[in-house]
Amino acid sequence: MKPNIDRVFEEVRENQKILESCSDHDFSIDLNPDKVIDKKYRCSRCGGVLGGISRMWYLKGREHERKA
Ligand SMILES: [Zn+2]
Repeated sequence: MKPNIDRVFEEVRENQKILESCSDHDFSIDLNPDKVIDKKYRCSRCGGVLGGISRMWYLKGREHERKA
């Protein structure tokens, strides 16, 4: 049997590809509203998924972009 980690890695790569093809993310879909930590968000435009911490930095980057 193939180790499960291969599938996970494949999904991560697939997700990365989706995220890279989107020029204007909107991570407004909370995938686990019942959770406080280890959250995940889906972009309503490309369907890519991002972890809560990555999303925070992404939003910070966009904020700085607007000020520049
Ligand atoms: Zn997107």
